[in-house]
Amino acid sequence: MHGVQSDTMSAESPLLCRHCGYDLRTIDIEDRCPECGTAVASSLASAYLAGAEPSWLKQVYIGQRDVVLGVVLLLIGVPVTFIIDTWLDDFLDANRTIRLLFGSLPTLLFLALLFVGSLRLTTRDPRLGDTESPVAPRRLALLSVFAAIPISLLYYAYLFTTAPPVVSMLFLYAFGLTVCATIATLTLHLAHLAMRLPDAALGARCRSAATWFGIPMAMALLASAVQATIGTVTLLRFAQLVATLVAVVFAVKLFLCWFAFRRALASIIASSAPSPG
Ligand SMILES: [Zn+2]
Repeated sequence: MHGVQSDTMSAESPLLCRHCGYDLRTIDIEDRCPECGTAVASSLASAYLAGAEPSWLKQVYIGQRDVVLGVVLLLIGVPVTFIIDTWLDDFLDANRTIRLLFGSLPTLLFLALLFVGSLRLTTRDPRLGDTESPVAPRRLALLSVFAAIPISLLYYAYLFTTAPPVVSMLFLYAFGLTVCATIATLTLHLAHLAMRLPDAALGARCRSAATWFGIPMAMALLASAVQATIGTVTLLRFAQLVATLVAVVFAVKLFLCWFAFRRALASIIASSAPSPG
């Protein structure tokens, strides 16, 4: 078994205050952080999440809940609205705007929870200092979720116009791409955090689930976009089917990883909670 090596914080990292990130190397171990007053000794638990600021851990935990809640609402909401739509077919046929608004509800709710959850989940550990890579999964997740908002709004805006369907389809695929990128990069971010639980096995599982969900899903969506533009290509259609199947299988694995991480984080939060009195 290999030793756990965190890639976000090396052994040479400065000792940073777990609350505000202040560099504590020159401060006596018995002292308090000159910036915020947190005891230096409480920041000593190296890179492990057990030594992290409880309020930050809580943010990550709540953010994870919001994202999962959003995905679950989407998975339930889409078929439910579809059934209701079929029920009220005659009424909705005459009211196109109501049909579009009603049909968009699950997606908009999902988008709102994904956005809020991503912001919380990617809150920066104050101990990490200024050494974070510009392409850290945390940053890529924020980039994708911020891209998803205008693209989804453009998609809905186009639905209400008489633009050719292919235009709104392309926006829909672009929207799907940003959402999948957000989920995949958030999972890579969880992989980084899992390495600091420390749980190298969970970290590796999160990473492989993110990769094997994200890349095939992106390929399938791109294939859809190409075919929406140039027409169906049999070989592309087949490749798309295979890619989608792989992505769905790994989406299940990805969900299981999220719950495993959630359990691990919950037990850390429970054990780091201040004892009453
Ligand atoms: Zn401090």
